[in-house]
Amino acid sequence: MKDCIIIGTSPLALAEAAYLNNNGYNCLNIEGKSEIGGAWTTIKYEDFPEIEIGSHIWSYNKKTYLLIQNLFEIPLVKLDYQPKILFKNLLIPYDWKMNLLSIKSIYSNLFKFNFKFFKSIKTYPDIRFSILTSAYMYPKNGAIDIKNALETFIKKQELKIDLNKKVKSISISRESIEVLMFDGGKYYCSKHLILTSLSEIEQIILENGEEIKLPKKEIQYIHRHLLIKDNKKPKFNYIRCVSDKVIHRLSDMTSQVKNQLSKNEIVICVGIFQEQYEKMNTSEQEDYVMNFLKKQKLISKSATLIKSYSNTYPSFYNDSNLMKEIERKSNGKIKILRSTDFIYSFYNNYDKYSTLI
Ligand SMILES: Cc1cc2nc3c(=O)[nH]c(=O)nc-3n(C[C@H](O)[C@H](O)[C@H](O)COP(=O)(O)OP(=O)(O)OC[C@H]3O[C@@H](n4cnc5c(N)ncnc54)[C@H](O)[C@@H]3O)c2cc1C
Repeated sequence: MKDCIIIGTSPLALAEAAYLNNNGYNCLNIEGKSEIGGAWTTIKYEDFPEIEIGSHIWSYNKKTYLLIQNLFEIPLVKLDYQPKILFKNLLIPYDWKMNLLSIKSIYSNLFKFNFKFFKSIKTYPDIRFSILTSAYMYPKNGAIDIKNALETFIKKQELKIDLNKKVKSISISRESIEVLMFDGGKYYCSKHLILTSLSEIEQIILENGEEIKLPKKEIQYIHRHLLIKDNKKPKFNYIRCVSDKVIHRLSDMTSQVKNQLSKNEIVICVGIFQEQYEKMNTSEQEDYVMNFLKKQKLISKSATLIKSYSNTYPSFYNDSNLMKEIERKSNGKIKILRSTDFIYSFYNNYDKYSTLI
């Protein structure tokens, strides 16, 4: 049996472990935090409902929705209101951005004479044109459902997880890969290692002694969660705000946590730009957000704020070209799982993970 270390416990990292275990490997997922799930986790703050961190949206791909539904046994539901983009005062279907992205992508490949790309157009999920918007889906109770499903998946697939072990550096020798922890603690040795686009590693030492430093590209995702009294349910699920200087996205999470709410209570999660977050105090942020929601008619004029709190989720993105170089120079010992978009990362591994169903 070949051994393999996988960094992290996101749904993708766990699906990969299950797939490899079924194909002659013995995998261990090493996780720096005390909880599994990666970005798909929840937060409990005082007597606020337990809620997913941040505000998320899953890209549209029908076949991948089915894969995830069956793989993790998570019931997905069509969003009550399809996602939108808010530009000034105009709400545009989020799905229409695919038209722009597709034209951009086709145009940039036109002059590269990339035949493989043109062949893949028929099947690749982010090249599509949409007039009647597609039905975006998501787990009914958001990350609460994902977390529960992952716990069951770990047990069913008998996955091995080591929590609270943050990996600092990796060193490749001819025989194996050594993984060093941040606290200077235990070394792990393995023949294979899998990283994702979001694995946070300081340095990798190659077999020939070359040291590759991974530049720190940290992003702070800051969200304010608001518990509001309103006699009407909000008429949106997810909105990407592209012209506001403070708010960049909004999610209505009421239906995800409705069992934890009293009558006429709603929960809205608001993504706030870091720069503005640091300039404003709590009550300034609350006033700004409440006025914004009312001005855009997303909540009633009479709605009142019960309370709010903010959370910061630090994340780290690796440069994709550098990761490709590391993969190539590791002589097959390190593999990178591209993971910047949840649905597309599963789409890219569709054939592998569908064997687990
Ligand atoms: C805040 C946030 C919001 C996002 N929103 C969306 C969205 O709306 N839609 C979408 O499609 N995608 C979204 N993404 C993209 C997300 O990257 C993917 O959906 C997917 O979760 C990526 O999986 P991953 O394993 O690469 O990263 P993550 O899900 O971030 O998981 C990485 C895990 O690895 C652990 N880890 C990292 N480095 C180390 C180390 N050195 N040692 C030990 N453990 C380590 C981390 O603790 C973490 O648990 C979001 C990402 C973030 C961070």
